[in-house]
Amino acid sequence: SIPLGFFGGIGAASSRGILVKGSNYLEALNDVKYVVFDKTGTLTKGVFEVTKIHAVEGVTQDEVLQNAAFAEVHSNHPIAESIRKAYGKDISENSISSYNEISGHGMEVVIEEKEILAGNRKLMSKMNIPFLESEEVGTVVYVAVNKIFIGYIVISDQLKDDAKKAIQLLKELNMKKTVMLTGDALAVGKKVAKELAMDEVYAELLPQHKVEQMEQLDRTKQTNEKILFVGDGINDTPVLARADVGMAMGGLGSDAAIEAADIVIMTDEPSKIATAIKIAKKTRKIVW
Ligand code: ADP
Ligand code: MG
Repeated sequence: SIPLGFFGGIGAASSRGILVKGSNYLEALNDVKYVVFDKTGTLTKGVFEVTKIHAVEGVTQDEVLQNAAFAEVHSNHPIAESIRKAYGKDISENSISSYNEISGHGMEVVIEEKEILAGNRKLMSKMNIPFLESEEVGTVVYVAVNKIFIGYIVISDQLKDDAKKAIQLLKELNMKKTVMLTGDALAVGKKVAKELAMDEVYAELLPQHKVEQMEQLDRTKQTNEKILFVGDGINDTPVLARADVGMAMGGLGSDAAIEAADIVIMTDEPSKIATAIKIAKKTRKIVW
């Protein structure tokens, strides 16, 4: 039978917008020593703004943006939403004959026999497309039409208001390490990790690489120590499911994340991670 105190703990969590799917997860939070984060949509708002458009000779910036917006029509990624917003005009979905979202890379679509690729440098390399690499510190979306590079768009995201406080509160709770696993460029990951005073950052990871990195940490930690992963469900559901405790930021409303997670933070505030751990510690005191 489950001690009554756990229900009290789950209730206390729920009144603070933290949904705990079982008393075992609340109990497990007590032993968390490593907190691993996704970046986009988790520590950052996931609302990107276009800061630069580079077009190759003979192509206009508008054409680069328009092709990128067409490529992103069917993607739910925060990058896609931002590019569609920057473009601003309606796009007829009927003209798109096929599309493929390549996880951790970007989009491949075919529109009236024209193939458009929009994504990171990994996507360009995978498709064997020669391209000019951006030197900006930002998330870069490279665009190619019929396998020819036409330009890139630099976009930048903002930290969530309480992200810095969230990391600091975790340090105060004696976490051994805070780690970032991101699919974004290393320069971007490093910049965010530095601003937040996080301990480690691993970048340019595909979803399966995020799982591998987590397993690596799992092997080096002590057996009684647990790993908490916090993500938004976009490109990180495998690692959310693999962690000792998987926590989703429910603010952006990714159903996949809410499904895969053990704990859901309904308010989109990373500082609630520490709140959840504090409730777990109080609950243990009452129960034992
Ligand atoms: P994060 O780990 O920061 O949350 P993701 O794993 O969701 O990032 O995405 C990793 C990278 O893959 C992005 O930074 C971007 O370069 C690329 N990418 C993913 N989806 C798209 C898309 N729809 N359009 C363009 N690029 C994308
Ligand atoms: Mg993400």
